[in-house]
Amino acid sequence: MTAAASARQILVRLHEVMASRMHAQGKLDAVVDIVGEALDSEVCSIYLLREGMLELYATRGLNKSAVHVTRMAVGEGLTGTIAQNIETLNLAEAKAHPDFEYRPETGEEKFHSFAGVPIVYRERAVGALIVQHVDPRRYEDIEIEALQTTAMVLSELIANAELIDEVEAGSTGDGHNGTQVVNGLALVKGLAAGQAVFHQPRVEIVQVVADDIEAERQRVYRAFDKMREQIDNMASQAEFGVGGEHEEVLETYKMFAYDEGWSRRINEAIDSGLTAEAAIERVQQRTRMRMREIDDPLLADRMHDLEDLANRLLRIVSGQLGTAASQGLRRDTILIARNLGPAELLEYDRRRLKGVILEEGSLTAHVVIVARAMGIPVLGRARGLRGLVREGDEVLLDADAGTATIRPSQQIADAFDTRFARTREKQAVYAELRDVEPFTRCGTRIQVMINAGLRDDVSALAMTGADGIGLFRTEFQFLVSATLPQREKQTRLYRDVLEAAGDKPVIFRTVDIGGDKAVPYLRDEDAALDENPSMGWRALRLALEREGLLRAQARALLEAAGGHTLNVMFPMVSEPWEFDAAKAVFDEQLQYLKTRKKVLPEAIRYGAMLEVPSLAEVLDLLIPKLSFISVGTNDLTQFLLAADRANPKLAVRYDWLSHSILRFLRRVVQNVAGQEVDLGVCGEMGGRRLEALALLGLGFRRFSITPAAVGPIKELIRKVELEEITAAMNGWLSSPTVDLRHELQEWASERDIDFE
Ligand code: PEP
Ligand code: MG
Repeated sequence: MTAAASARQILVRLHEVMASRMHAQGKLDAVVDIVGEALDSEVCSIYLLREGMLELYATRGLNKSAVHVTRMAVGEGLTGTIAQNIETLNLAEAKAHPDFEYRPETGEEKFHSFAGVPIVYRERAVGALIVQHVDPRRYEDIEIEALQTTAMVLSELIANAELIDEVEAGSTGDGHNGTQVVNGLALVKGLAAGQAVFHQPRVEIVQVVADDIEAERQRVYRAFDKMREQIDNMASQAEFGVGGEHEEVLETYKMFAYDEGWSRRINEAIDSGLTAEAAIERVQQRTRMRMREIDDPLLADRMHDLEDLANRLLRIVSGQLGTAASQGLRRDTILIARNLGPAELLEYDRRRLKGVILEEGSLTAHVVIVARAMGIPVLGRARGLRGLVREGDEVLLDADAGTATIRPSQQIADAFDTRFARTREKQAVYAELRDVEPFTRCGTRIQVMINAGLRDDVSALAMTGADGIGLFRTEFQFLVSATLPQREKQTRLYRDVLEAAGDKPVIFRTVDIGGDKAVPYLRDEDAALDENPSMGWRALRLALEREGLLRAQARALLEAAGGHTLNVMFPMVSEPWEFDAAKAVFDEQLQYLKTRKKVLPEAIRYGAMLEVPSLAEVLDLLIPKLSFISVGTNDLTQFLLAADRANPKLAVRYDWLSHSILRFLRRVVQNVAGQEVDLGVCGEMGGRRLEALALLGLGFRRFSITPAAVGPIKELIRKVELEEITAAMNGWLSSPTVDLRHELQEWASERDIDFE
């Protein structure tokens, strides 16, 4: 008989037992008989986790009186070791293993060989399946695989019959035990606690044994085809992965997706009688085991990629395609992902989503900007994260310290609560500044506005007492829609925002899509060729070519602002003609509305973002046409330093406090001085205390920042003497070797200014 045929025979018998009307205990008793016979073993036993202990539930060959009597802790003896490490043991001589412990009530002294596999449910070991034999022999690979397959069937039975403890965090697990601390980069500061939820959830396998092997094979073939197609598409889409090491990852994905060995092994598992899902999982279990034995960090990284891909294959085959957002969040959640797009993040329920941990990510990636706008702390670059955390684990996210604690002990949780309370106190102090106008110590009024992009964000105006919305990112509406938002829908949003803002000004920025803000419905074949999307076909460049898009937005803005002042700003202007062309679209729409006798805006103020360095060189040509300029330091910095804002490997180079950035900004302030144009800054830089201090010293008097930063920045402003910081900045900038961060910190400390 072939290996597959004998495995299939066991499965067929197991299937019969599972389908029978026997009660759960009867089924377990039948299973130990089937497996014991098939593997020619005197002993076969099932241990299950109950009340935190592994309890003997069924046996053939050991004393029956030991059933429900013999119990051991996870980690105790060979069985406990299997459960603790989620590992398979295959020993010719059980007594020779250091973890062996003898249990006299079982009568097991006469058995020499021992093999056992964990029973895994929702990635946790909930029991073990053991065979023992009188002769000292190692079981063959095929026998071990039969055990592993049986364990999968058992986990299905266990799940249905509720035989085990409610699966709790921290019960058992391989490297999944106890508290783990993950370090990363603080992308959005803050503290949060919740349960881990994977953005791409693991698929639950509901049926292990196949009814029709050929049908299962076809399902896997189709799933492989689809997966390969997806991977090939990703490779041709420049925006995949939002920066980071995506190329490397893609290469690995491709390698695995086309790996003949992988698909062959899955096919063999199907031959043995498993469903497509169970076969994929089965092969994955085997690979995990092998990898664990190899213990090589480089391979471990690759293993994550393979896990990703196997999970993708499982999702395709099972039709469970949605992300965790589509299933809805049930509790306070810390979201776990390799990376996310801004639109994906926005799909989550804002009340339940408390924090995000990414394996990749960078400070100014748009997903991070969105999270900041939502007030959700984000920890990025948390390497190896998905190997350490499981769905449902308790997670304490301390993005201030750049750490996340998984499965915290009570002591750690208490300390975290104390810190949490302290930050809330600090926030309360900032909240008290809501109605306090931000005057510097020397009496200059600084404008502090907020960045926004969603309808709900407008409430932050009242909450923070900010002076207005200095940047309304209109593309957020485009990012959250599955299709291009209709003009009427745009009009409604803009009108709502203006109404909610009341007397306070709102600066609408026309769409900035493209780059890491790609939307599927606006794809252009050429966009796929963008090797560097942030320098590619995006923002105004795209809007001017898709004129219909800009025309619709212009009309929507003009109509929405009927009777109000409309402030409109164009992104990524690199030469004056682009501004002229964009303004012409607005003029044309204004004419149209005039002829239709519509209510027109009381005034229209046009502005440009200064984020492409070339514009600074020709600013004098543009200024006469502008009411305001807003410096977008997020993009400006990446272009000046040629350091991709989304690439975490360049995080150190992407430095807002570098001499070159600050000198450039100072020159802009000087060029604008004395002209009839309002200058402000709306990049993330302005929301950070040390950087804001530098900007004040350079002469910036208008900031548009993330709402959470309004309190801290107001508090800073009130402690600053402008003449002092201006003189200091000028001094530092004239000596190129000065470490500006260090100087600013010293300066702040001396004046009792907290710079964190
Ligand atoms: C910027 O580039 O600084 C900016 C504010 O725009 P965005 O981050 O949306 O590109
Ligand atoms: Mg920008």
